[in-house]
Amino acid sequence: MEIAIMGAGLSGLACAITLKKNGITPTIFEKRSKVGDRFVNGEVLLDIFSRPVHDCIASLSDEYGIYLQPTSNIQRMELFSKNEQAIIEGHLGFTNVRGRERDSFESQLERQTKSTIHFNSQKTYEQLLSEYTHVVIATGDGAYAKETRNFREDFSVSIQGATVEGSFDRYTVMAWVDYDLSPYGYCFLIPYSEKEACISLAIPDLPKNADLNIRDLWKLFYQKVRSQLKQELPITDQFQITHYPIGICLKPRIGNTFYIGNCFGTMMPFMGFGQYTSILSGVYAAYDLCGMGNYEELMAPLRQSYEDSLVLRRAMEQISNEGLDRIIRSLHGYWGEKLFQTKTINPLKVASYLMRPFLKMKKGVTS
Ligand SMILES: Cc1cc2nc3c(=O)[nH]c(=O)nc-3n(C[C@H](O)[C@H](O)[C@H](O)COP(=O)(O)OP(=O)(O)OC[C@H]3O[C@@H](n4cnc5c(N)ncnc54)[C@H](O)[C@@H]3O)c2cc1C
Repeated sequence: MEIAIMGAGLSGLACAITLKKNGITPTIFEKRSKVGDRFVNGEVLLDIFSRPVHDCIASLSDEYGIYLQPTSNIQRMELFSKNEQAIIEGHLGFTNVRGRERDSFESQLERQTKSTIHFNSQKTYEQLLSEYTHVVIATGDGAYAKETRNFREDFSVSIQGATVEGSFDRYTVMAWVDYDLSPYGYCFLIPYSEKEACISLAIPDLPKNADLNIRDLWKLFYQKVRSQLKQELPITDQFQITHYPIGICLKPRIGNTFYIGNCFGTMMPFMGFGQYTSILSGVYAAYDLCGMGNYEELMAPLRQSYEDSLVLRRAMEQISNEGLDRIIRSLHGYWGEKLFQTKTINPLKVASYLMRPFLKMKKGVTS
């Protein structure tokens, strides 16, 4: 069996590590000159988004032998709507760095990979398929799946972000769901350390957002964070992503081609989280290749999570700032903490089931 992995990101590297642990050495093809050779940004792993798993980092090491050191664990989340705020405390998840930094998640995975990585690869999927018995597509977006008509794109999102200097509590993450700042989207402040943080603004490219200018909204958001934190927050690095497709492939495996990570559809529509699911998809594809499971079956719960998350995203598009104020107010204190820390139910799954009839009714009214 000769396996080519296209893309040395989270899912591709997790796949390579798992294959090697089980006696198969794949070859990795990465289009960039080194692992993580892109913008730097801060990301989070929130426990509430990975239920039934309560600690992604522990689960990855104990169950799959994949070892990741986050930047910090999250002990406090400050959530803001236009007029309300909720503070939630407890162990809520982890923050981590992505991109070209030495301790980014992809760099950490590269150090655990024992397979050859061919950098600056120009190989197309078709070339790899003619040279290898199996190809794992891990290129980080649905482009190839789309080209082969194996991808349902649900919407796209545009994101602007920056690294800022200041004084931060590394255990606190801040998030804004205020449609004056990011209509139908969200904003985050994720610290890298006591002195640096990543701020970002994500806006879905909906028809009702067609006239928006992300640069104008960015100015508003940047000003908002500075006044809220009462700090200057000089920008030292910036990134912008336009029309990033969010969708899911129709078949996770076609013939001897496996679609993993965002090529499968591991980036969840509600808030764009996808790190943990991307890593899992790489592990599961490797299990199938090693005869230890069936990729399609293993991915079924992640497909369901995607669909649940899409319901929440669609619901979010129906809510106004007043509705968001009510939600944030109800999350403050005891109930928010209970919700974020409950171990017996998956709150997002429950919310998505509760939202379905509401969305059906809305659809009926508008169609
Ligand atoms: C701005 C932003 C913020 C995010 N924040 C969060 C967050 O806070 N929490 C969370 O859980 N998730 C977050 N996500 C989602 C998460 O980062 C992704 O779901 C995850 O990185 C996907 O992993 P992947 O392996 O599919 O792709 P990646 O890790 O992006 O890897 C893809 C790799 O493929 C390479 N490649 C591309 N094309 C080719 C080609 N033709 N040939 C060879 N190699 C190729 C790329 O260079 C890259 O190295 C965020 C995403 C973005 C864009």
